[in-house]
Amino acid sequence: MILDKLRNNSICIKIYSYLKWHERFALIKNFGFRYKCPFCGYHARKMNPIGCDFKVIYEKEIVGCGRRFAGCIKCGSTDKERLVFTYMQSINFFENPNKSILHMAPELNLSKQFLRHKFKEYICGDYFAPGYENVYPSYVKNINILNIPYSNEYFDVVICNHVLEHIENDLKGMSEIYRVLRKGGFAILQVPISYITDKTYEDPSISDPAEREKVFGQCDHVRIYGLDYFDRLKKVGFEVEIVSDLATRYSKYGLNSKEKIFICHK
Ligand SMILES: [Zn+2]
Repeated sequence: MILDKLRNNSICIKIYSYLKWHERFALIKNFGFRYKCPFCGYHARKMNPIGCDFKVIYEKEIVGCGRRFAGCIKCGSTDKERLVFTYMQSINFFENPNKSILHMAPELNLSKQFLRHKFKEYICGDYFAPGYENVYPSYVKNINILNIPYSNEYFDVVICNHVLEHIENDLKGMSEIYRVLRKGGFAILQVPISYITDKTYEDPSISDPAEREKVFGQCDHVRIYGLDYFDRLKKVGFEVEIVSDLATRYSKYGLNSKEKIFICHK
């Protein structure tokens, strides 16, 4: 019995050592000067592939999803979270921690940065899938975007990065975000979007994950946003500012050159 335990431990140690060695080797092999991750500071000559490809992504030229070389080899950050972080850096957001922030479906590397800066209030929320309540980090609360449990004008900033494309009643979600934002505050509401499509395509009868991959480009997306995405945001009251030059200004950060950031002001 004791020998079994020792053997098991020794196997665990060997696997752990191998993985650590493998990680170290990958960092040495991929070291270079093309990229610099703004989260972990790793200098890389390339990034890891992330995302999945489906024909519709190319047909509709959807920006913000699909297979791409955009994952940091050291910390695993994605281009989507680096874009939000870069925008925040560009407006010196982290210099004044006297803000209340709601971050829905928080990305790991991005939320670490907000936690580190000790804001007045930083609430992370996600809709906990039944049976998976224990997989979320302890700082994440169970929050349904369709019924945000905070009073009107509670937050200075809301971050909801690539979430609305998963929500059937996205207008209700947008309205809730608008409601909890204070006047003068802003929300970052990124979605995958087709700039060659005028009208958003959605069909609630399509619920099969394989069919959604084929039609919407991902198994849990419920629509493909077109240019009328901005009309939806305006309909609930937002004034939309589009920032499109971050990938050029911060060319080392490995951002998606086609992804613009949507700043929704109240
Ligand atoms: Zn990194």
